[in-house]
Amino acid sequence: DRIVSADNEPDEKQLEAALRPANLDEFVGQKRVRQQLSLVLEASRLRGRSADHVLLSGPPGLGKTTLAMIIAEEMGAPLRISSGPAIQHAGDLAAILSSLTEGEVLFLDEIHRMSRPAEEMLYMAMEDFRVDIVVGKGAGATSIPLDLPPFTLVGATTRAGLLPGPLRDRFGFTGHLEFYSVDELELVLRRSAGLMDLAMTAEGFTEVASRSRGTPRIANRLLRRVRDWALVHGVDRIDARTSSTALDMYEVDARGLDRLDRSVLEALVAKFGGGPVGLSTLAIAVGEETETVETVAEPYLVREGLLGRTPRGRIAMAAAWEHLGLVPPEHAAF
Ligand code: ADP
Repeated sequence: DRIVSADNEPDEKQLEAALRPANLDEFVGQKRVRQQLSLVLEASRLRGRSADHVLLSGPPGLGKTTLAMIIAEEMGAPLRISSGPAIQHAGDLAAILSSLTEGEVLFLDEIHRMSRPAEEMLYMAMEDFRVDIVVGKGAGATSIPLDLPPFTLVGATTRAGLLPGPLRDRFGFTGHLEFYSVDELELVLRRSAGLMDLAMTAEGFTEVASRSRGTPRIANRLLRRVRDWALVHGVDRIDARTSSTALDMYEVDARGLDRLDRSVLEALVAKFGGGPVGLSTLAIAVGEETETVETVAEPYLVREGLLGRTPRGRIAMAAAWEHLGLVPPEHAAF
């Protein structure tokens, strides 16, 4: 339930839908991916065929689902949405594939979490637009070949490395999404504020963008919280001060760290002199599960150059001391 989590929350879907860019021109940042994708789509339009299969990889909240929707929109094709975890049996996939219409775009989120048999069925479907449907069990089982209409698969994964080679190879185009710069997030926020009818100063946008961890999903969520704060406090033009006061109240600090992130850093610095300290000891010190510290707090702290993982344990980097307003001791671990 962290406000700075990049995963979307169940009740957030509709709010997000309202802010999704509808075409590639409105999609902010990711210039390289946008240019390449635009070429793939244009070429397929000229050939009069459905576009090559597209794989989108990158951390949550960076725009993979949005791009899948844009691909369908730009191809003038319907979009079907499913996900790896929802496809546990080959039959689940067969049901989806056999109901696709010509040119349809099939978006499979978290494609690395599909079951093995489904994955193998997908190979053939992607390559030959055909599946073998197995009917019956054991010695009496027969397989019935079924032709599929040409379709475009858009797969999304947070970890391209987890995808088996044969699956990766069947995508004609792979786009890797990167975290957004503060400038780019400001553009995302400007667009969202326009749609939400909010009056906001340039510094107000910068303040929210700097706390958004490079992620449009988080930026839009923080903007909604700032909007609430402004509404309740009767502020009609949101400036840097309003944004920072509101987000401080939600415990999101100037670098986008939340309470958990900060308590990890503070423990590391105050209780262990900056480390090195073992992960499980650090987790006990902040009263959290080891896994929470490792998977929820650490990735962003490491990315920001605040925390280091060394063979001897976790260490606070120079930037961590600075962020906490402290001066590192002379023999700090970094
Ligand atoms: P993912 O599928 O990678 O988890 P989404 O496509 O669902 O991410 O994007 C999350 C939210 O962020 C959506 O509301 C979307 O409108 C917004 N968003 C993502 N990327 C961009 C972008 N490049 N420009 C504008 N808004 C974006």
